[in-house]
Formats: sequence, C-alpha cells, structure tokens
Amino acid sequence: MSENRQSGVQEFEYKAEMKQLLHLIVHSLYTHPEIFLRELVSNAADALSKFHFRQLTESESPAEDEGELKISITVDEEKRSFVIEDNGVGMSEDELIANLGTVARSGTLGFLQTLKDRQQEGSGIDASLIGQFGVGFYSVFMVTDEVTVETKAEGSPACRWVSSGEGTYTIETVEREHRGTTISFTLREESKEFAESYRLEAIIRKYSNFVDFPIYLDNKRINSVEALWQKPKSELKDEEVEEFYKFVSVDYQEPLAHLHLSLEGVVSFKALLFLPKEAPVDMLYQQGSLENHGPQLYVKKVMIQNECKELLPEYLRFIKGVVDTEDLPLNVSREVVQNSPVMAKIRQILTSKIIAWFETLAEEEPGKFQQFYKAFGPVIKIGLNTDFTNRDKLIELLRFESSLKEEGEYVTLREYVTGMKPDQKEIYYLSGDNRRQLLSHPNLEYFRKKGIEVLLLVDPVDVFVIPSINEYDEKPLKSIEKADIDFAAEEEEKEGEALAGSMIEPVLKIFRETLGEKVEDVVESRRLVNSPVTLVGSKDAMDTQVERMLRMMNKETAPGKKILEVNPSHPIIKNLAGLCVLNDKNPIIPATVRQLFEGALLLEGGIEDPAEFVSRMNDIIEAATKTSKS
Ligand code: ADP
Repeated sequence: MSENRQSGVQEFEYKAEMKQLLHLIVHSLYTHPEIFLRELVSNAADALSKFHFRQLTESESPAEDEGELKISITVDEEKRSFVIEDNGVGMSEDELIANLGTVARSGTLGFLQTLKDRQQEGSGIDASLIGQFGVGFYSVFMVTDEVTVETKAEGSPACRWVSSGEGTYTIETVEREHRGTTISFTLREESKEFAESYRLEAIIRKYSNFVDFPIYLDNKRINSVEALWQKPKSELKDEEVEEFYKFVSVDYQEPLAHLHLSLEGVVSFKALLFLPKEAPVDMLYQQGSLENHGPQLYVKKVMIQNECKELLPEYLRFIKGVVDTEDLPLNVSREVVQNSPVMAKIRQILTSKIIAWFETLAEEEPGKFQQFYKAFGPVIKIGLNTDFTNRDKLIELLRFESSLKEEGEYVTLREYVTGMKPDQKEIYYLSGDNRRQLLSHPNLEYFRKKGIEVLLLVDPVDVFVIPSINEYDEKPLKSIEKADIDFAAEEEEKEGEALAGSMIEPVLKIFRETLGEKVEDVVESRRLVNSPVTLVGSKDAMDTQVERMLRMMNKETAPGKKILEVNPSHPIIKNLAGLCVLNDKNPIIPATVRQLFEGALLLEGGIEDPAEFVSRMNDIIEAATKTSKS
C-alpha cells in the first residue's frame, strides 16, 4: 500500500489470485460480456435486500429514510458512459477493501477452480458454468478499462474506489450524503452497445426481470417485480414460469417440471418449486455440498433467506424455487427459522407434497421421471436412511436395472414382485460397477438359466441403502453373492453330467489344502452353469462392493474371506478329478487351483499380485501347447 498524504488517495495492490481471476474474466469470458449487467444488478439488489431486512429487523427505525428502495441505471450513448446506482447498505472503507480487493466469495474461488480444471481437461467454458457460479463485480472489466465505485454505509464516511483492474486500486474519502453505491465507467468502443437503451432493456428483462426491487433505466421502470407464486395457477403462463426459474436458479436451461402450491390450514404458504434438468457438477455423492442448499424463503413477499435449508430435508434440497408464508413474523431471525414449529410444519407438508409430485410424474410422465431419477436418484436415496416417515413412499420411487431388462430400462420393486416366479420367495440383487460386468458374473449364471430376475445395482450408493430395505412386500432382499440362497430343490437337471460325490470330494480337498487361509471354505456349487468356480460371501459377510469401498477409503481394511464354490459339471473340474486319480502330486493341479481362485478374485475387483497370476498362466499355457513327444 502506498499513500499520497496530500490528496488522501491510497493505492493498494490486488492479491495474486485476484490478478489471475481478472485475467481469466477479461480473456476467457469475453463471449458473454452482457453478464456484467446481471452481476451489477444482482449486487445492487443484494445491497437493497440487506437494507430492507435491516429496516424490518432492527427495532429502532433507521436513521434516514430515502424513500423507495430502487436501482437506477443512466447511460449516455454519445459519451459511452454507464452509471448504476442503488440505495442499499453501501460499504465502509474496510468493507470496500475486503469485498472488492480480494476473492471474497467462495463462489468466485469455486469458479476459478472449475475454470482451471476445465482448461486442464481442454474443455471449454460454457454458459452453464458462468450461470452456476456468477463471476461477480469484476465482470465489469469485460466492457470497460476503468471503474469508479462511490459508496456510503450508514455511520461511515463515504469512499471512492477506482481501479483499472490491472493489479492496483485506489481508495479515498469523498463527500456523499446518501447511503448506497454508485458505480460508473466509460464503456470501451467495442462495448458501446451497452449504452443503448433498447439493448439494456432487453438484457435486464432477460436476466433481472424478477429482481425484487424496481429497476429504472433513464428514469423508466423496466422490470415487473411480480411475486409470480402469489398468482392463481390458472393465470401463470408457462413462459414466465420458465423465465422465473432461470432467474431464481441461475440456470440457462428450462426446468424439467414445476409445482405450484397454495396451502391454507394449520400453516398457510404459497410455493413455486422446480426440478432442474441436470444435477449441478459438484452435487452428487457430496452430501456436504447439499448442506446449504434450499429454496428461497419469503415472508409476506419479502425475501428473508436466499437458500433456506430448513425448508426441505437434505435429500430434496436440489429443488429450486420460492416458498412464501404469512405465518412467520417479518423480522424472523436465522435462529427462529431454525427452531420455529411453523417451519417444521411447512417442511413436513412440502416434503409430502413433493413426494406426491414425484409419484404423479412417474405415473403420468415416465420419460420425465426417468430423466429426473437419473439426475437426482442418488440424492433421493439418502432419504431412505434419514426420513423414516416417508421411507415407504421413497422405496416405491426406486428404479433398478435388471438382468431381464434391456439396458436403459428400469423396474420398480413392485414390478419385480409382480413378475416373480411362483416358487420364488426372495428378491435378488447383485451389485457392481457396471451392467456389462454384472451380466457376465458367474454368480448370475443360475439365475439367467432359470429366468429369475436379478436387480443390478450399479449406483455406488446402492450398496449402502438397498440392503437396509431388508424386506419389500414381505419378501427379503438378498444379494446373490451370499452363500445361503434358497435354491429350488428340484433344480438338479444340470447340463452334462456332474461328478459323483466320491469324485468331487478329493478335488474339494485339494482346493482346501492349496488355498488354505485364503478362503473360508470350498464347497460344491449348485449355482454355476458355465463357470468352473465362483466366490460367494457367507451369510453374515459384508457385501463385496461395500468392502471394496471401505478398502478404498482405508487401505488397512483386510478383505473378508469368501467361500469358493466349485462347479462339478465343468470340464476343468472333471479334468482335475481325473488328474487326482492318476497322480495327485502333479504340479499342474495346485497351479490350476490357484489360477481358478485368482480368476474369480479378478472378477470381484482385483488380485494382489497380477505378475504372479500372469506368470502362472504362462506356465499353464506352455504345458497345454506342448506337442507331446512320442
Ligand atoms: P458476490 O456478489 O458474488 O459476493 P462480487 O464480486 O460481485 O461477489 O461482490 C463482492 C462483494 O462486494 C459483495 O458480496 C458485496 O458485499 C460487495 N458489493 C458489491 N456491490 C455492492 C453494492 N452495490 N452495494 C453494496 N455492496 C456491494
């Protein structure tokens, strides 16, 4: 910081990351320079909201009352000058330095990070990204070389901040009577369109039509300031609803669906809620990032909280929109919002209305429901373990891939149960990374042959939630990799002849001796059709997928021991039985046993020593390809 004492002008340098951000904004976002207007208007509206809120919550009436809270924009086409003014909270000198001299907001930092990632990936920057983060005040440097901000907060002297966005800014104290902020600059030649009234009017309508405060352009009122959710449903036009969605959610796409509610009873509220088409990039599986999401909370048409997490349970917080109630006092504090029984009631009603909305969507617009489920299904599933009141309804919403359905088709548990075989008593599932891998799993062979449907759980959260369902319609849910499956007793018509008991026993013994501690047991299989062996968990063992995840999180977790099932009808097993009879010291026997075991491990997700596996495989191939010397 350097100071010129005579003029009272202090010069400051931006933090390094600021310079980087400014550079990116000016050079990477140049295709959307109009964004600057949205950002300045939204900052002004925030400052007005803060003031309005203060007016409502502070007991003594504010020192000054300057009439209507508003945003005024004045432009001069000839001079290319642009001025935007608000009578919101304004900033003190310290606030100016903190807010405009650093990357103050985590959103901006997030934006920077995403930009970097995208650039590393070589992918471009698109409108959705800008939408998701909002680039803030600095976007103004897309259209001008120098900006002057004059601002006054109540009880502080007014200040002027000037910067060309190139590393430094200056601050000085100035005379200014009224509270608020004025931002002025001269547009660059190539941005002169933003001094044309009709162009500005169009941009304001596009991005800022639903801002809560009037916007005047050269003294003409531009935006409608309309509480859309207060209108009766019949008067809502699809177009304005979509526009409103884009405004509240800062999404560039249309919403997938919307829900308009007007409730009177124990509590009264109106709501206009939206399902986005896609999940934001960072939301899935990061439960923490849903922590501070939620629709906007209004009380009697006044915005109280921008993202009110108390309105919805976590697993529904991807829903955007507005909830407006008359049953809370205007000067409601955050603590009251958190603890109020009115809020609890609103939340309870909203939750059941939203779930009913999903049910209707599933019934009446299955295509839309599927799109919704793809985007937010993993989030909804969180509710199964957290919302016991609605658990049964959430279970009905679940959709699964299945061994009997084509890729991309889904079944519900209800449909599964309806299609069960007459003697089938359980609901079967298999979990893994992807459909292709699951379909070729040896454990599925028996079920495929018998035409018994198996749910394929490919969403990583499934293993944490689905087993906890335990039972549906009195039918237990069971992983087919568990050993105690109740195979129908009459299923003995195996293809080809199986080894007789006396023949298989010595083979099982050799397996046990060779594998030792590596397996819990080796048993004869009744589920295998085409594969020689497979691994299954004992009744109480952890699900393989869960175990893998735990291992990924904590390398120390030792893999649980499995039971190896051996297929007595398989040629390799029959050959082994033959070799045992001839010479049970033949070294190919233990090599084959290890190879079969590790092959099965490989299907489960990995072996410890791939090099040894391959080298042993080569030995076996060598033996198999040897031309016999007569
Ligand atoms: P964001 O608005 O996303 O927080 P910005 O870079 O746009 O980030 O603004 C940084 C901060 O500067 C704001 O959070 C706000 O505190 C302050 N600010 C910007 N414009 C105004 C304004 N017109 N009145 C009062 N404060 C403002």
